[in-house]
Amino acid sequence: MMPLANYRGRKVVVLGLARSGAAAAKLFHQAGSVVTANDRKEREACPEASELEALGISVVCGGHPDDLVTPDTALVVKNPGIPYTAAPIRQAEALGVEVVTEVEVAGQLSPAPIVGITGSNGKTTTTTWTGALLEAAGLSPIVAGNIGRPLVDAAQEIGPGGWLVAELSSFQLKGTTDFHPRIACLLNLAETHLDYHGTMEDYVASKAKLFANLSDGDTAIFNADDAVCAEIGQASAGRHWPFSLTKRLEVGVSVEPPFPANAEDEAGANTSAPRWIVARDGSGAEKRIVPVGRLGIPGRHNCANALAAVAIALAAGAEPSALREPLEGFMGVEHRLEFVGTFREARYYNDSKATNPTATIMSVSSLPAPLILIAGGLDRGSDYRELIPLFRDRVKGVVALGGDARKDSQSRGRSRFNERRCRRTCRGCRRDAEQSRAGSRRHGGAGRYRAAFARVRKLGHVPFLRGEGAHF
Ligand code: ADP
Repeated sequence: MMPLANYRGRKVVVLGLARSGAAAAKLFHQAGSVVTANDRKEREACPEASELEALGISVVCGGHPDDLVTPDTALVVKNPGIPYTAAPIRQAEALGVEVVTEVEVAGQLSPAPIVGITGSNGKTTTTTWTGALLEAAGLSPIVAGNIGRPLVDAAQEIGPGGWLVAELSSFQLKGTTDFHPRIACLLNLAETHLDYHGTMEDYVASKAKLFANLSDGDTAIFNADDAVCAEIGQASAGRHWPFSLTKRLEVGVSVEPPFPANAEDEAGANTSAPRWIVARDGSGAEKRIVPVGRLGIPGRHNCANALAAVAIALAAGAEPSALREPLEGFMGVEHRLEFVGTFREARYYNDSKATNPTATIMSVSSLPAPLILIAGGLDRGSDYRELIPLFRDRVKGVVALGGDARKDSQSRGRSRFNERRCRRTCRGCRRDAEQSRAGSRRHGGAGRYRAAFARVRKLGHVPFLRGEGAHF
């Protein structure tokens, strides 16, 4: 995209009025552009509309009119979630109008260097952890992006002495062209979001865009245990700083002694020597950062997240001695393996952000078996078969919910999982069944899902399932 000043007096269309859209609309308005902000949702569902109109921005809600993107449109800034098949995007492409996400705009705006963090899983955890490490090292970070706060807001607030730490999704990265982080980090790649990207190639290419504009003074941080991540990182310009759970690295951040390559071999591994996170820059000197057993949050996947955060902090210039305390003191982020409490001797964990099979594998492997897994939701085109061995070995029961309940159930079937249907013997289930029937009549089946979610929210119901064995 051109420098922001070049859009003065020109038409800019902002698609999607969520927080990042509103922030972008205000920014271009201030820069003197003629902004039209549009959302498919009805006006009542767009709380940002009044504020934008009060500023003099034209707001169109309730659909995408045919004449939204016109030949005189200089730029379209789209909400990352809007698919590229949406009519105004197609219109823009047909007219040769550039389409970007707010990340591209923020990249141009930030006076501070940017850390970009992406991957299929662990983005929010690593981004939050990185923010804590940079804060402890006195590097004045602001954390923003996919994690919640619009990046353009943070880019306007941050001064040149700080670091803008950006969590970036594939949806956001797909809409970038010149975005140039000082440090780019790719955590891992798993099959997900195929409903949006169509193919795995498109998904991977979107992630790889994070590295596209790196140059000599920049650092590429990537997961050396993941072949595709390593390929992307190695092909990048700038200094290469991989991280690995399973290999000692002469340059990069690794665990020593390493974890076995296969997580299942962990039980048989000789772990008498405490494992440490160790950084080496190729000069022969090594920096021992923290024992893995002292990390604030459990699980091998979280150790990988810590390696990435350490690599970023060191690349940003943090003193290694400043990192130990925030590595040990980090309590994790809510909804990620979050301990909820104990009820009738059963321990409850909320890992509702585990939204693809790989994340589910990580969380189920990190918790002591036997487990009851409450899972389901929207099918994003992932293959659930990889869950089967895990279900067989560790999961005693599954409560399958929502749109994917049938697919979960099929995975259980193939694993010869002992599946029994709820016989609706308990009060909770009878009530759910009644609600479901009423809901189905009123809302064409939607009530079934509401009843299921009500059931999850009332977690007290599950020990009954477990205790009586009536449902599994
Ligand atoms: P994201 O922001 O990428 O969705 P989060 O940090 O919110 O990632 O974590 C979401 C879930 O993904 C966690 O609850 C956990 O189950 C799983 N997870 C976290 N880190 C990793 C990792 N490095 N590899 C695989 N799974 C992970």
